[in-house]
Amino acid sequence: MDVRDAGPGQADRHGELSSAELSGGGGLRDLALSRGEVDRATARRTDAAWLAAAWADPGTRVVVVEDGQAPVSAAGEAQELVFVSPDQAPDGVRFLLGVDAGGVVYFGVAGSLPAQAWPGLRPGVRPISLRQAGPLLSDRDVGLMTHAVALANWHGTHGHCPRCGAVTEPAAAGHSRRCVNDGSEHFPRLDPAVIMLVTDPDDRCLLARNAMWPERRVSILAGFVEPGESAEQAVAREVLEETGIEVGDARYAGSQPWPMPHSLMLGFRARAISGLEIKVDADEIAEARWFSRDELRADIASGAIRLPPPVSIAHRIIESWYGASLGGAW
Ligand SMILES: [Zn+2]
Repeated sequence: MDVRDAGPGQADRHGELSSAELSGGGGLRDLALSRGEVDRATARRTDAAWLAAAWADPGTRVVVVEDGQAPVSAAGEAQELVFVSPDQAPDGVRFLLGVDAGGVVYFGVAGSLPAQAWPGLRPGVRPISLRQAGPLLSDRDVGLMTHAVALANWHGTHGHCPRCGAVTEPAAAGHSRRCVNDGSEHFPRLDPAVIMLVTDPDDRCLLARNAMWPERRVSILAGFVEPGESAEQAVAREVLEETGIEVGDARYAGSQPWPMPHSLMLGFRARAISGLEIKVDADEIAEARWFSRDELRADIASGAIRLPPPVSIAHRIIESWYGASLGGAW
């Protein structure tokens, strides 16, 4: 287990989120899937002539997404997203991803990854998911893949108009869909979810095992934001429903797109404000308890618990509370 001991002094220093962390300049910076750096070129989405010229340019790069996976080169140490030129791209919904600082245009296509190697593909190329690719790819590549997977997932499930049931067709360079019957335009949907690390007055953190998970797997609490509810209200409701703990002072800590299939994870820290006795909602939560930093370190080292993988915002919020990197991920 790779548990780097912060030491009690360091741990105490990290008991509160620093202003740098709250402003995104600290522990939650560079979340695995929040690192995109390519300009989305939103003004070009309705510029038909520009889009046609970009697609005709053999220097344009296309990422192909199928079932949430994209091809990545495993050759050598560096892991890279594998692009094809427009004339090599399969049939499928096409969407503009953006333009990089060097003027290279990127598109995504939701289509079939061919079993045989494409022209120009190197040996060692394999399709992988965002969970796998998130920690491996560069800022540019992970941003492009996250954007492409999110749009592919949305197009794949929104082929019909919610107003009249007729077929919809891609519009705005794949960033909306238009109904062929009534002309209504429909935009990509996101499911916002809150995920929150709750602490008690002794600065212990609340970790729980979802009823669907195997033994030993634990994480912080999470849940979807309901219609008509603020993110802060969702934090308080979910913690109360799942563990019987009342919390206040919910503070935003950072966010990460999680297009599996179409969530946006909103990270929070919150404090328990009354009774610390945990009463789990047995339908959703199998067990939950408070952990001091020493207990967390010891239980990870012994294998008694396993934390979510580093690609998750959950892992990073737990580390920001703990004050150092933590291993022992599932
Ligand atoms: Zn319609």
